Amino acid sequence: MSRLTILICGKLYDGVHDELQENKRIFIRNGKIEEITESTEIPEGADVIDLSNTTVTPGMIDAHVHMDYRDWHNIRQEVYHTSEEMKTLAVLRCAQKALSHGFTSVRHMGNINAVGYGVIDVRNAINEGMFTGARIICAPMSLCTPGSHGDASQSYAGNFRAASLLQAMKPVCGSGSDFFVNAVREQVKYGADFIKIMATGGFFTPNDTPLQKQMNDAELEAVIRTAHELGTTVTAHVYAPDMMKTMLEMGIDGCEHGSLMDEETAQLFVDKGAYLVPTFCPYDEAVHYDPEKLKDKQPEFRAKLELYKDRLIAGRKVIVGSKIKLGYGTDFVANHQNYDSGWEYDAWMRSGMEPFRILKAATKTNAEILGIDAFTGTIEKGKNADISAWKRDLLNDSKALLDCAFVMKDGIVYPTEPSSDL
Ligand SMILES: [Zn+2]
Repeated sequence: MSRLTILICGKLYDGVHDELQENKRIFIRNGKIEEITESTEIPEGADVIDLSNTTVTPGMIDAHVHMDYRDWHNIRQEVYHTSEEMKTLAVLRCAQKALSHGFTSVRHMGNINAVGYGVIDVRNAINEGMFTGARIICAPMSLCTPGSHGDASQSYAGNFRAASLLQAMKPVCGSGSDFFVNAVREQVKYGADFIKIMATGGFFTPNDTPLQKQMNDAELEAVIRTAHELGTTVTAHVYAPDMMKTMLEMGIDGCEHGSLMDEETAQLFVDKGAYLVPTFCPYDEAVHYDPEKLKDKQPEFRAKLELYKDRLIAGRKVIVGSKIKLGYGTDFVANHQNYDSGWEYDAWMRSGMEPFRILKAATKTNAEILGIDAFTGTIEKGKNADISAWKRDLLNDSKALLDCAFVMKDGIVYPTEPSSDL
């Protein structure tokens, strides 16, 4: 029988109960949680890790990451100035950094810079134990239409030769339901864990708007039906409420952002049991209006945040007040590095979200969204020992998730570091 490890918890949030439990110890053997006990007995030969000065939680999960870039300050230059291989290394570095920040699993939401499938190789290499890093669940590419938010060549539209060449580098960009049936099948063939689509325009692109519909009903229906036929799930980048309603009626599993949410659409999420990963951070300087911080952003992104400010504020209020099943995701491309996942905790707290709702989103609910809840997301007997611990007060300090004190994945302890811009 392999060695027993005992974690002595200061406080314990287990992902199941909305409370911080005291006097708990977690017994771990063979990478799994064997028991959660109040017994103070230490069996002979056990390794003891004293976390009595911390709050112990399930390993955190970030459900919206773009892993394939190195530094957000240069993200636009990296697209065409770094090799595919370097972008794959960036994915690996992101996974390693996420783990050291207390996030044991991340969901890659489509390449933002890479055009290949390096994320699949990194995912597999980590799962095989070739490298350490957060567990990756991924949609390698975001399916999209020409000129849409997912088509980076829209930035070069003034030079049609360059733009059409660049568009051709993205084989998941096209039109028509047959195209999308094929695209879903290819993503699954190459190892996608789920399907991501770009349903509306966005904030971070120069030539579209967040309310613009960028896929038609036949295309949406083709994606959702084909993905479900193949036993996988679909989520969409979307802002416009009517677009969310259309997709929810079609049976989409979840949505990302949803930042222009209204009451009627929020209720439909609840009725359909669909999830939303609201990614508060990218819009935070508009919602909690901060013109100084907005100055750091790329000009077109800044202009759209200013323009939609009031609707973003209203949408956030609806999301916070709703009963939607919420996942925790950061979507960092423009204000923090992609592994500084703890910033979303700060944004949710400052938006009036109840701390246990945030903690549940980042653990149990995210594990369900990623399809890994059978073995992680909560601290329960039989689950993998994916466990983090935090020095600061999770219930009152909005920066608490930026300061990881301890992290364990599958029963192995890894070094931690505080967030780079804490
Ligand atoms: Zn995103």
